[in-house]
Amino acid sequence: MRYLVVADVHSNLEALEAVISDAVEAYDSVLFLGDAIGYGPNPNECVERLSRFADVVMLAGNHDLAAVGAVDIGMFNDTARTALEWTRGMLSADVARLLQSLQPRLDQPDFALAHASPRNPVWEYMLERYQASPNYQAFTQPLCLIGHTHVPTEFAQTTAPQGEVNLRIPRGGDSTGLAPSTRYIINPGSVGQPRDGDPRAAYGILNTDAETFDFRRVSYPVEVTQHKIRVAGLPDQLAYRLAIGR
Ligand code: ZN
Repeated sequence: MRYLVVADVHSNLEALEAVISDAVEAYDSVLFLGDAIGYGPNPNECVERLSRFADVVMLAGNHDLAAVGAVDIGMFNDTARTALEWTRGMLSADVARLLQSLQPRLDQPDFALAHASPRNPVWEYMLERYQASPNYQAFTQPLCLIGHTHVPTEFAQTTAPQGEVNLRIPRGGDSTGLAPSTRYIINPGSVGQPRDGDPRAAYGILNTDAETFDFRRVSYPVEVTQHKIRVAGLPDQLAYRLAIGR
């Protein structure tokens, strides 16, 4: 089975469309790791596009949960909160209902899925090696896919014998062979608001037959999204950061 792995779309329709075009025919099914909305100008369109895939599993992220009142909007910084308040006013009833039905973590036989981290699927930013151990204990499968930090990241630990945790920040075009007796926590990076200094949309392709995970990047018309952000009256910083990928 080949999975298109996408996270943190954040209402950026141009980035999402570019990923879908770039990944064409490389996948059978879609795994969406949460944060469809927040920050960007097209919340309804992004949720609708994600839900239209023939075969898709969708998680809720912290922004999705806040937009439908399931977590406290006071947990967010000023810019994120301003965008969330704008988003709440824009959401259609159907999209709000769909977001309300989503969970921040799901377990499948081959892998776990969590928006932020296995142990804290709504809020934890998994960026450091010391965070790995308690998180490996929070799932049993060989692989957990996460999002939330907007930085492509790979944690790997051999289990027999138990080795050190290796932490790597993969670049676009990198491919990981998923080794036996190794457990992985992998973040494909963010579609709609990358924060690793590369402004291109990030996504992954998981192939459970070939046992590979490919880290991919694709350019999209950033200036179109920036223009929409400004026209919507959203904070200008949200437009600016897209061009630098921070
Ligand atoms: Zn996010």
